[in-house]
Amino acid sequence: MPNIDSDFSRRLSAVESRIHTAATRSGRTRSAVTLVAVSKKFSGARIREAYQAGLRVFGENYVQEFSEKRPELADLEGAQFHLIGHLQSNKTRLACDLFQVIQTADSVKLLKRLDASAAERGQKTEVLLEIKLSDEDSKSGASEEELPQLLAAAKQCRSLNVTGLMTVPPWSEDAETSRPYFRRLAELARQFEGEHPLPKLSMGMSGDLEVAIEEGATMVRVGTALFGARPKPQAVEAPLAS
Ligand SMILES: *Cc1c(COP(=O)(O)O)cnc(C)c1O
Repeated sequence: MPNIDSDFSRRLSAVESRIHTAATRSGRTRSAVTLVAVSKKFSGARIREAYQAGLRVFGENYVQEFSEKRPELADLEGAQFHLIGHLQSNKTRLACDLFQVIQTADSVKLLKRLDASAAERGQKTEVLLEIKLSDEDSKSGASEEELPQLLAAAKQCRSLNVTGLMTVPPWSEDAETSRPYFRRLAELARQFEGEHPLPKLSMGMSGDLEVAIEEGATMVRVGTALFGARPKPQAVEAPLAS
């Protein structure tokens, strides 16, 4: 029987060494990069195991899915949960209850709703702006042209702390394909730093984290390389032809 614990430790060491090598190669330190363990589709038990192996920052994609896992994780002291999937504006209250960081704010409307939800709770919520740098229809994220208006809106949001940018490049087997997207995100953060400091850059996943770190990522979001392949969704019966 495979020992799940040591499997996880082995994968974690491999990811750690990739991060370390990429950081060193680009003249950065390991501590400049936060590893966000992407636990979507995995159980609370798997999150606990990752916590026990030393991980503290977790990324989840779905508000509903995480609200079901959250109660059993209440005792994980110091664990931080980030929302890295698209947020619907009718779920901002629940999102503010569940997540310390929302990485996917991508409209003025959403910023305002998040601000109101955080204010109601008397808390300050950290937010990253998700920027879509490709022209894929299937992805969420604001365009780079919208960034100035998002930053202007962010200034009015007293219960939000907008600390950086996040992006998801088009999927590719070749990590180098992601480089221009990562470079552009870093450029945008620099371009607007006079108006609004944006020190955090969330970019890079299992397949391209080295390239992201070389281009200045301060957070890499890693799922598969840590937890293995995600469980497939339950087979659904084919709908009747109409
Ligand atoms: C699923 C997901 C990841 C992790 O992807 P892996 O390739 O499994 O590392 C990172 N970021 C976002 C936004 C995701 O949805």
